[in-house]
Amino acid sequence: MALIVQKYGGTSVGGVDRIRGVAQRVKSYVDQGHQVVVVVSAMSGETNRLVSMGRDISGDYGSAREMDVLTASGEQVTTSLLSLGLLSIGVQAKSFLADQISIKTDNVHGKARIQEIDTDALRAELDMGCVPIVAGFQGVNALGEITTLGRGGSDTSAVALAAALKADECEICTDVDGVYTTDPRIVESARRLTHITFEEMLELASLGSKVLHPRSVEFAGRYRVPLRVMSTFQDGPGTLITTEKDDMEQPLVSGIAHATDEAKITVAGVPDLPGIASKILGPVGAANIEVDMILQNTGADGLTDFTFTVKRQDYDAAQKILKGISKDINAREISGDNAIAKVSIVGVGMRSHAGVATKMFDCLASENINIQMISTSEIKISVVIAERYVELAVRALHNVFELQNLPE
Ligand code: ASP
Ligand code: MG
Repeated sequence: MALIVQKYGGTSVGGVDRIRGVAQRVKSYVDQGHQVVVVVSAMSGETNRLVSMGRDISGDYGSAREMDVLTASGEQVTTSLLSLGLLSIGVQAKSFLADQISIKTDNVHGKARIQEIDTDALRAELDMGCVPIVAGFQGVNALGEITTLGRGGSDTSAVALAAALKADECEICTDVDGVYTTDPRIVESARRLTHITFEEMLELASLGSKVLHPRSVEFAGRYRVPLRVMSTFQDGPGTLITTEKDDMEQPLVSGIAHATDEAKITVAGVPDLPGIASKILGPVGAANIEVDMILQNTGADGLTDFTFTVKRQDYDAAQKILKGISKDINAREISGDNAIAKVSIVGVGMRSHAGVATKMFDCLASENINIQMISTSEIKISVVIAERYVELAVRALHNVFELQNLPE
């Protein structure tokens, strides 16, 4: 008998029939004698629908507190429906909203972080043979207000619950049957990975692979929660995300991620003096805009150019901020480009092999793709390129690193 936390995403609970299917799937685990805690997302499309109604009525200045009350409602619907579905087939179940089991978060509405979960109520339910159905994505702050964890955050709810309950495994049940070497919609020969390390998965998730919320992977790595991505709709082992084992045969590159929701901003001709980076990026950070890659050119004539990337949704706001301070920082020009993409290769195998970067750059050169920015870490190399080349780049790289030949 194992204790398993299962999370079902938006498509898995996208309608009453689908929820019925999920109820059957949960029942099959209960019938095998497992204890199951379920975390659900809102029905697919529902959070978008709620967000757009909120924006419609409030414009750019919507209260983050109220947006959280609004968007958290999607998960309330699916917890109760799944619970009803389970009860109707004879499985004891009970729905829980975040404040009912005290999923405590900080105060950052819309991007809250989980701080603590009280597992007593859940344990009591499990001991009575009941399946708790927990609303993902939501939490409660110290004032008792509803918070949300950011889009895709119910993965994090599930992992946090699994960590708090010391569950044997956390299963992310979704519409794909695992983590792929790259997006199979772009590369037909993309392979499902049987396993991948937390580190690699964290990079892939942060770099644009949409299958898992980055924070959920971070959490799982920190608390060593075995995490499995698997299909709700078909049987199969999925992809297991675990710690690196010495005897694991590591491919050079395990996955290729791409992100097209990027934009870059260049601040040209600023004085090449100590403190300039913080003068530029300080106000951007203060506006809660995340800066990703940063590049500062070697100065000439005491001046330098400074380029950084942000999420495309933050592009206008970031430009506005910089135009506002451009006089103070003596910038010659603020320019930008929001038709860029980031393509990244990730693999723990890179750590022990030289030449991976050269192979990547040669590959892009042979496709005539210009690299605008580069950033690297121990296990990843990312490049910024024009958005229109993104599919070409991903295909070429998948081929050059022979990911289609990884063992299944
Ligand atoms: N319903 C939320 C969203 O769409 C959270 C989630 O599905 O993970 O972002
Ligand atoms: Mg999701």
